[in-house]
Amino acid sequence: MDLIVLGCSGSYGAPAGGACSGYLVREGATTIWIDCGNGTFPHLQEHVAVEDLSGVVLTHLHPDHCVDLYSLHVYVRYGSDLSRLPVFAPAYSQRLLGALVADWGDAFAWHAIDNGAAVTIGELGLRFSRTDHPPPTYAVELTSREKRLVYTSDTGPGWSVEAFEPGADLVLSEATYTHDHRPSAIHLSARQAGEAARAARARRLVLTHLWPQIDPVTAVEEGSESFGEAVTLAAPHLVTKV
Ligand SMILES: [Zn+2]
Repeated sequence: MDLIVLGCSGSYGAPAGGACSGYLVREGATTIWIDCGNGTFPHLQEHVAVEDLSGVVLTHLHPDHCVDLYSLHVYVRYGSDLSRLPVFAPAYSQRLLGALVADWGDAFAWHAIDNGAAVTIGELGLRFSRTDHPPPTYAVELTSREKRLVYTSDTGPGWSVEAFEPGADLVLSEATYTHDHRPSAIHLSARQAGEAARAARARRLVLTHLWPQIDPVTAVEEGSESFGEAVTLAAPHLVTKV
């Protein structure tokens, strides 16, 4: 299984190509786009043909996780022969995001996700878990025949990756802040991300969704200390094997 980071800037876009949240997960012929943050659609096209997407997952409707779905919509309807591309998203997404679209046409086949729901997309099994974040927000576990990836989406400390089976091969965890800079309780610090991944016996930890004003070196040091081994900080176009 491959994880490709399209964007990882926390909550707003950073300078120099700092797209917001978006990832590709690839297993064989299956490619899933998880979160369509601003700036991720241009990056996506550097890694995959849109025609090769198997489906799209929106973990929640904060703009930094969903607005490039509008670009995908335009591409699918007017720039391709695609139709009914599967989109897995919170139940009200089609209506709420539709406020800016007169008509979705048959661009997407919408599927509602919910706490504990499980779906199969091609060669990957997905399971969702409601996190501690204001709009309905879902962490997602992706399982192939051999590997398991857990993406926390956005969450405060009231939810943990321990909601899934322990021992994931890779945990991609939000770590918006550092311990000494936590202006809001709806996100994690790098220390909290490391502690949770350690408790869940994750094999590897990649930190993401870093607030652009936070020093990345401090975040990596803090996360590595609490996780117990070196963590990786996500960066646009990072490609890693799960
Ligand atoms: Zn959010």
